[in-house]
Amino acid sequence: MDPFEDTLRRLREAFNTGRTRPAAFRAAQLEGLGRFLQDNKQLLQDALAQDLHKPAFESEVSEIATSQGEINLALRNLRAWMKDERVPKNLATQLDSAFIRKEPFGLVLIIAPWNYPLNLTLVPLVGALAAGNCVVLKPSEISKNIEKVLAEVLPRYLDQSCFAVVLGGPQETGRLLEHKFDYIFFTGSPRVGKIVMAAAAKHLTPVTLELGGKNPCYVDDDCDPQTVANRVALFRYFNAGQTCVAPDYILCSPETQERLLPALQSTITRFYGDDPQSSPYLGRIINQKQFQRLQGLLGCGRVAIGGQSDESDLYIAPTVLVDVQETELVMQEEIFGPILPIVNVRSLDEAIDFIKRREKPLALYAFSNSSQVVEQVLARTSSGGFCGNDGFMHLTLTSLPFGGVGASGMGKYHGKFSFDTFSHHRACLLRSPGMEKINDLRYPPYSPRNLRV
Ligand code: NAD
Repeated sequence: MDPFEDTLRRLREAFNTGRTRPAAFRAAQLEGLGRFLQDNKQLLQDALAQDLHKPAFESEVSEIATSQGEINLALRNLRAWMKDERVPKNLATQLDSAFIRKEPFGLVLIIAPWNYPLNLTLVPLVGALAAGNCVVLKPSEISKNIEKVLAEVLPRYLDQSCFAVVLGGPQETGRLLEHKFDYIFFTGSPRVGKIVMAAAAKHLTPVTLELGGKNPCYVDDDCDPQTVANRVALFRYFNAGQTCVAPDYILCSPETQERLLPALQSTITRFYGDDPQSSPYLGRIINQKQFQRLQGLLGCGRVAIGGQSDESDLYIAPTVLVDVQETELVMQEEIFGPILPIVNVRSLDEAIDFIKRREKPLALYAFSNSSQVVEQVLARTSSGGFCGNDGFMHLTLTSLPFGGVGASGMGKYHGKFSFDTFSHHRACLLRSPGMEKINDLRYPPYSPRNLRV
């Protein structure tokens, strides 16, 4: 017995009726999504607090308000985005109509991770609905409380003939992926990304893969250490470090490290007090498995700041590691926790070589008072996104595409990029049935005269 067959058949039949295509239907779904957020704000805040001990401020800015912002943007621009895009023509088609039509793919699957369990399900969903698709949403089974709200409450706000939430972990998702979808949008680890892509290949289904990796953070000698410490610490320890775009490690000279360490200590105390475990502003590790993995990483290099942990509370202190070797585990895997290693380099060239020896990251950060230094890091490396002199502020702009490159993923979304991702760009040329005399030129028997046209 296949648990997904009936649901998928129902959604596909609904798509084939064409009911998701009109702008009014799409707008109604987006408005429903907005009402879901507004009506259930407290429920969502509570679920995020239960899953990740997310401070209310972090839930608001990085989950609820971000999703609402995407909904509002899509509602304001929906009709303009849906419009046929006229394109330039050649001599032979001057009297015809040439355009790109954005049409929905059909039945799309969105698979989400647990670290921003609302944002990373709803923001892709906005794009999929705006583009007129039917959607199957597979939230993470690990962020259980948000999963429950998404499964039990969200469908009430959407047309259930066109939308479904399905539940499950690796095994169930594996079975789900055996089915044919018209598009798959996956956010998660590179390891599972490969599984998703292999499953999609069986049906030649196009994919967006939003993956993770290690995001380097270069800190130049010419910088104000306190400013750098504030900005790096905010984005490293936000959501207890469980952020795909968090600065994963610092590259700097030993001299800059000496200036940064007291600045980082002072920032951490300012943000979370003398006892960060009792701070309401620091999240917790999602579960025991992740906690134990992170505890293993605390043994790398030497703890310069923090290092404490408490398994009963899934707490890991905001930590800075020094004397870290490139070969150690903490420099081999994505950290995804509140641990910040510092790796020493002797020059900008050495930092750039270090970055280029590794997989292309999802985000790359460079701090310097010199705009030439920032530009050099930007020009000589590659990454999904880049921010000079701050952490992941580039994500706050819906005018910028969000996505990885190489091992950090493929495809992009946010704002209009989401709409475009979930739309097939259909190349259309509508020719005149008349003017056959002119068309005569292209028919055999060919003569040199034809080529002159
Ligand atoms: P994950 O890859 O373990 O799981 C993601 C989703 O895939 C979940 O819904 C899960 O149920 C499903 N899944 C897990 N194993 C599967 C399998 N064998 N077959 C089919 N489906 C399976 O990722 P995670 O632990 O939930 O999230 C952390 C990872 O996600 C990190 O690597 C992080 O960098 C990445 N991430 C990336 C972004 C981004 O936007 N690029 C955002 C957040 C997280």
